[in-house]
Amino acid sequence: MEELQCEICKMKFQTQVDLIDHREMIHSKFECPTCGAEFKSEKQLKAHEKKEHEAAA
Ligand SMILES: [Zn+2]
Ligand SMILES: [Zn+2]
Repeated sequence: MEELQCEICKMKFQTQVDLIDHREMIHSKFECPTCGAEFKSEKQLKAHEKKEHEAAA
């Protein structure tokens, strides 16, 4: 039986779907390029950048 393992945290999964779900839930984060803060969504990151770094575009 093929073993599926997350290459990031080494957690093991029964199915490919579980692994993909896990990766999206746990590891798909958005990082601020300016200060390295991490966010769960792009929206949160954008709000942070606007608030904290106020990039005048
Ligand atoms: Zn993982
Ligand atoms: Zn930042």
